[in-house]
Amino acid sequence: MNKIINTDNVKKFIKNEAGICPICGSAELEISSMSPEDNSVYYDWFCDKCEACGKEWYDVTFSTHGHVVKENGEEVKNDEGY
Ligand SMILES: [Zn+2]
Repeated sequence: MNKIINTDNVKKFIKNEAGICPICGSAELEISSMSPEDNSVYYDWFCDKCEACGKEWYDVTFSTHGHVVKENGEEVKNDEGY
């Protein structure tokens, strides 16, 4: 989604919440697949109601190793059995 960006009069969000358009507050966002960047991931979104677009960022934190296999084919599981 490419728009001509007007930086003369930058405004603030009405809300800064996941899944909510920060311009009009609508929950009707079209969302792209997740893209990784450094220690974050983001979705590109487009608001069906007011036609604004942007990115929604999420921090990524380590959860667990899983589905680990040694070079000899031996499986090693974590405490949850994965
Ligand atoms: Zn909107």
